[in-house]
Amino acid sequence: MSYVGEVLEGVKKRNASEPEFLQAVTEVLESLELVVEKHKKYRDNAILERIVEPERQIIFRVPWIDDKGNVRVNRGIRIEFNSAIGPYKGGIRFHPSVNVGILKFLGFEQVFKNSLTTLPMGGGKGGSDFDPKGKSDNEVMRFCQSFMTELSRHIGADTDVPAGDIGVGGREIGYMFGQYKRLRNEFTGVLTGKKLNWGGSLIRPEATGYGAVYFAEEMLKTKNDSMKGKVCTVSGSGNVAQYTIEKVNMLGGKCVTLSDSDGSIYDKDGINDEKLAFVMELKNVKRGRIKEYADKFKCEYLPGKRPWGIKCDCAFPSATQNEIDGNDAKTLLDNGCFVVSEGANMPSVPEAIEQYLAKKILYGPGKAANAGGVATSGLEMSQNALKMSWSREEVDGKLLNIMKAIHKQCLDASSEYGDAGNYVLGANIAGFVKVADSMIDQGVV
Ligand code: NDP
Repeated sequence: MSYVGEVLEGVKKRNASEPEFLQAVTEVLESLELVVEKHKKYRDNAILERIVEPERQIIFRVPWIDDKGNVRVNRGIRIEFNSAIGPYKGGIRFHPSVNVGILKFLGFEQVFKNSLTTLPMGGGKGGSDFDPKGKSDNEVMRFCQSFMTELSRHIGADTDVPAGDIGVGGREIGYMFGQYKRLRNEFTGVLTGKKLNWGGSLIRPEATGYGAVYFAEEMLKTKNDSMKGKVCTVSGSGNVAQYTIEKVNMLGGKCVTLSDSDGSIYDKDGINDEKLAFVMELKNVKRGRIKEYADKFKCEYLPGKRPWGIKCDCAFPSATQNEIDGNDAKTLLDNGCFVVSEGANMPSVPEAIEQYLAKKILYGPGKAANAGGVATSGLEMSQNALKMSWSREEVDGKLLNIMKAIHKQCLDASSEYGDAGNYVLGANIAGFVKVADSMIDQGVV
């Protein structure tokens, strides 16, 4: 059996109850076959065995009191996956589905993604099964304070720097930052995604969505094409979806869908900037449901459905993992979709990815296409360390250059290993080599 096969067997035995983690590890390891066969040092140093095992997992109780005076308890988790190239870095997710396996998959992906950004950041991820939906601001604040009371023992500007993810935006980062500062009596860049007045970076809220569109534009350029005039489907309606639409509009494309966990809207006229402003108010302030968009703008609402049945040139999955199954991928491809740029983490199941690769469409996997978010978090860390702030244009320019660099690394690595344009292969190999070589340099730790 090959080295990859042996390690995968061990991972399956050891993590049998964590399907998302196994899915992520299988995808990465299978694309490393050629690299580890060519370079024996990885096997000699047991790099694969080590890279699939988090350096540390922290699980803790998060007690809090709801508005009716009831004591409630959630579970808090932080996965500190790999610190070979920098402090652990990765978001915090608040969603009822959160468990150790999901956070391990996200932390594992983050290791390779952060490596691709060209910035010195290790990989981590955290979160809780707390559901912010339907909670008052005070309940969210009490929860965040309790969560940070424990988490603060484990993180720090040079140790582990969390950010937002599903269910964690500017409001939650604010409450957590406030509690960290109060407990530690220090004002440091311990979290990213902060608001501007207290250490945040311009363009951080926009960065993941903008980055996914920049990545699509880079892929299109390899075919002498561009986003101009492209019809795009977008899933989700949160942070990533909103800024994906904003950038597509800037580049002359047209987005026709949005969704949330209740259903999708289809606006064939396109979600222009004015309609997008309505979505931002609806989702970020009123915290309402996407159906209200269809009511307001008199367009189609597809209850309980994802948007992949709508004809498009480019798809930007921006909601959650495994949201494009094999049938969805077939429908997308049959309808002529030829670009998939993943704003979400692991939104396509393996059968969907097989179809994209077989058809040789332009497919940007999440760890490359959505790396703009964490890259700009890295830029926020730099600004905090320097105690200065850069202009919007400066940060956006750096983000664009980073996305171009990620695209180039993926393309170069895929060419070096004989499958030019296979961005899955390219992203996994380029992300891996830097981390693996650093682990070897640092000895058996
Ligand atoms: P938000 O919480 O802002 O928005 C998430 C959106 O996805 C909401 O519309 C939500 O609908 C929908 N959604 C979430 N879970 C599900 C589900 N199980 N089924 C259907 N719809 C769902 O999160 P973000 O926009 O920040 O994150 C979206 C994706 O992008 C995630 O995969 C995240 O890991 C990834 N990502 C985010 C980054 C960032 O900077 N924020 C960076 C890199 C990746 P509802 O409100 O109904 O739950």
